[in-house]
Amino acid sequence: MAQPADAARTVIMTVDDDPGVSRAVARDLRRRYGASYRIVRAESGESALEALRELKLRGDLVAVILADYRMPRMNGIEFLERAMDVHPAARRVLLTAYADTGAAIDAINVVDLDHYLLKPWDPPEEKLYPVVDDLLEAWRHSDHRPVPSTKVVGHRWSARSSDVREFLARNQVPYRWYSCDEPEGRRLLAAADEDGMRLPLVVTPDGTPLVDPDPADLAAHVGLATTPAADFYDLVVIGGGPAGLGAAVYGASEGLRTVLVERSATGGQAGQSSRIENYLGFPDGVSGAQLTERARRQATRFGAEILTAREVTGLDVGGAARVVRFSDGSQVAAHSVILATGVSYRRLAAPGCDELGGCGVYYGSSLTEAPACQDQDVYIVGGANSAGQAAMYLSRFAKQVTLLVRGPDLSASMSYYLIEQIGRVPNIAVRCGTVVEEAHGDGHLERLTLRDTDSGRTDVVDAQWLFVFIGAAPLTDWLDGTVLRDGRGFILAGPDLTADGRPPAGWELDRPPYHLETNVPGVFVAGDARAESAKRVASAVGEGAMAVMLVHRYLEQS
Ligand SMILES: Cc1cc2nc3c(=O)[nH]c(=O)nc-3n(C[C@H](O)[C@H](O)[C@H](O)COP(=O)(O)OP(=O)(O)OC[C@H]3O[C@@H](n4cnc5c(N)ncnc54)[C@H](O)[C@@H]3O)c2cc1C
Repeated sequence: MAQPADAARTVIMTVDDDPGVSRAVARDLRRRYGASYRIVRAESGESALEALRELKLRGDLVAVILADYRMPRMNGIEFLERAMDVHPAARRVLLTAYADTGAAIDAINVVDLDHYLLKPWDPPEEKLYPVVDDLLEAWRHSDHRPVPSTKVVGHRWSARSSDVREFLARNQVPYRWYSCDEPEGRRLLAAADEDGMRLPLVVTPDGTPLVDPDPADLAAHVGLATTPAADFYDLVVIGGGPAGLGAAVYGASEGLRTVLVERSATGGQAGQSSRIENYLGFPDGVSGAQLTERARRQATRFGAEILTAREVTGLDVGGAARVVRFSDGSQVAAHSVILATGVSYRRLAAPGCDELGGCGVYYGSSLTEAPACQDQDVYIVGGANSAGQAAMYLSRFAKQVTLLVRGPDLSASMSYYLIEQIGRVPNIAVRCGTVVEEAHGDGHLERLTLRDTDSGRTDVVDAQWLFVFIGAAPLTDWLDGTVLRDGRGFILAGPDLTADGRPPAGWELDRPPYHLETNVPGVFVAGDARAESAKRVASAVGEGAMAVMLVHRYLEQS
């Protein structure tokens, strides 16, 4: 007999309140179908519904349901009607006594019954199996592929739903998205006993429903590590962008017990780049997500531990130990630390933008939202390479992409090759000397007021999507009192600390800080977070590797 795509997860269910009959039906079913299907048996409509909901959340399929007609509290027809709400594709069979055939015939219309079987069904070879064989055959020919991956049910235009999708996508966790308005979304909500008021609902592959989970909870449930396995390491790397991943790969591959802590998703800014064209060795470009996912696997293969959804909020120095504190109060210690916290997007200050964040206004998350922009008008704010790359990428989906640039032209801020590429794409328009004055919308972005910086004239355009790339700033306030930074928050290291010919205040060693070393011995910085850094993937990776080399030197001498 041909088997369905994922037979082990496909169920044939039987419900009968008479335990003897229930067992007998299950036995007969198991004898013929047990090798290919899971036979699930219940003794009441209520418990059968409960089992159906669990199967739904786990993403298991139900091919056929056989229900007895005469059951107390909920008869077979009532049960099948409710079962249809959860598993509409399952084929439905009513088991009836001869006296109930009238009810069974009526049920053909009520619950769209596929068949009714008269009890007793002996011998099954003649009465039961031919019917079930036919139903399974019909079921197999319809498309009911199982969804064993994580499922997210939410509102398309909700900031929280968008955050959760972004988190999963950036952490390379495969998921299937369902709008709460579509039938399957409603069925999943019902199976989780939710009325849709609290969204998003995340259903993990093992069927656990999580309502509006925080990142750490979500991470833990989808198999991402969130707590360190040890108390003490040779090296803690803070930040999982190219610099941090570079440091983790080199640290772990060179024998350092290494843990990397990332507050959101590994990849950092690079993970959001649709196409990196200037990274050595990739003449045709590479997507940032692909590059950083490989780096993550490489770091893990060398034995680095990677913690996700853990934000570092403090750094203490206790003798030789460097103690890293997390936002929940827990901590981990190490001989050395590499700060690779990069930079975060600047927010657009125009009124309305904060309220509509995640609901039409996005910061750098063009990749996840792009398919939703299909055939619509998209606006992008920014004149640097990140905005240009986003324009190129979104132009593949959107009807029209308009790049809003504050300056008079792109040449001062964008690479020449990208300006050339943009010029060749017919559905990208560039509006220089233009800023966003206000964002309008009720629950989702609907319009933008744009202002011409020369004339001061404003105009209002219809817009559902606004992607903002207006530069970034390091979020390093948590290092106050420990690590020295410049006026904009970028971390000072090496020669920048000794510019006046003297070591930094409090420096007690008889050598100056190493090249990437901060004013705290054993604490290094790599990548965009460093003052005067190059702001490039290659240099971030290079600095990560170099910082590890300096960690070795520090450890040898301490
Ligand atoms: C859209 C876009 C396109 C780009 N395209 C290119 C390109 O084509 N070529 C190129 O060379 N460069 C490009 N860049 C720049 C490049 O991505 C960055 O220079 C590079 O990612 C910097 O790496 P990083 O590791 O220093 O910092 P980031 O990539 O910023 O990573 C820092 C990481 O640290 C984490 N973090 C921050 N604070 C904490 C904390 N307290 N606790 C835990 N974790 C924390 C963040 O969540 C983040 O994941 C692009 C940038 C963007 C945004």
